[in-house]
Parts: sequence; C-alpha cells; structure tokens
Amino acid sequence: MAKEGKLIIFSAPSGAGKTTIVHHLLGKMSDLEFSISATTREARGDEVDGKDYYFISKESFLHRIAKKEFVEFEEVYSGTFYGTLRTEIERIWKKGKTVIFDIDVEGGLHLKRKYDGQALAIFVQPPSLEVLKERLSGRGTDSAEKLKERFAKAEKELNYAPQFDVILKNYELDTACADAEVLVKNFLNQ
Ligand code: 5GP
Repeated sequence: MAKEGKLIIFSAPSGAGKTTIVHHLLGKMSDLEFSISATTREARGDEVDGKDYYFISKESFLHRIAKKEFVEFEEVYSGTFYGTLRTEIERIWKKGKTVIFDIDVEGGLHLKRKYDGQALAIFVQPPSLEVLKERLSGRGTDSAEKLKERFAKAEKELNYAPQFDVILKNYELDTACADAEVLVKNFLNQ
C-alpha cells in the first residue's frame, strides 16, 4: 500500500471550465498528477485512452464495480458511467505526488467525505446558467438530446456549491487559473 497523500478535487457542472483549470495547474505544478477516470462513453475529438480517460466497455465497468475496484463511480448521464479506480489514486501516491481530480459534483462530494482531512474540494462556479448553456452548445460535440440532459444536470449541480471547501469563480479564465494556483499552493504548503 502506498503512503497516503493529498487530493485536490475540482468539481463543477460540465462546461464551467474545470478541465481547462486543471490542465493549467498540471502544466505549472509538477507535484500534481491527474487522476484518469474510467468511463463507458466514446472518446471525443483528440481524447486519448489512458491519458484523458480509460475508455472501457460497460461490461468491463460493471465487472469492476462488482469487484469493488472503484473508490467512487456515478452513472453521470443515463447509461454512461464514470468512476475513479482505487489503483489510480495509489499509482499517484506511490510517486509521492498529489492527486488532482476533474469530476462531477456528486463524485467530488463523495471523495471529499471519504478523504476528509486530506482533500481540498473546489467548486468551479460559472458566471450564470445561461453562459454555461452557451458553452455547452458551442462545443458542438453532443446531440440535442445529450445537451438537454447536460443542461438539466448542470442546473441541479449549481445548488451543491456551498458543500465544497471553496467556491472558485470562473468569470474570466486567466483570473480563475491564477486564483486556483494560489488555493492549491496554500493547501500543499499546509
Ligand atoms: P465529460 O463527458 O464531459 O468528459 O464528463 C462528464 C462529467 O463527468 C464531467 O463533469 C466530469 O468531470 C465527470 N467525471 C469525469 N470523471 C469522473 C469520475 O471518475 N467520477 C465521476 N463521478 N464523475 C466524473
């Protein structure tokens, strides 16, 4: 078993900008490493298996649930599963690094509770639901039906913000990235 380390959780509705902020931090801070989630969805655009996600079949995902290999998992969208493998966190801690997550709101709160005292849980707040909807539509990667589901989920998720350790406003990306750096550095120096 690897010596336990710290965890930094970035959660937000899809489209709030958390992935961009997490990538910014990974580029700046070599003591962080991204927790690669497993998912049953198809790879989008230039996503790479084993880098952005472990893209696995639903059958394999369900088998891993049965074997209790996930520290958390969610059926984030109907029929589409996402989850964090225990081995992923251990892989990163073994290197003496801090794990950084890009994860949905319920999954983030689940991890925060599970790793209480070791985790910093950050909620990325978009300027408004309208802006979020524009960003999601602008991606052009989802069908109208998928978009509708993402909008409904986003609206619900915005209400969870107060349960996080910190709410990080992403009204302007450069400012949000700079603020995130300060938050993470302070947490790692504690
Ligand atoms: P996307 O399909 O846009 O990559 O991700 C959809 C949502 O699932 C995002 O909010 C993303 O952060 C979340 N997600 C990614 N990995 C995980 C995970 O391991 N567990 C949970 N609960 N959510 C995840």
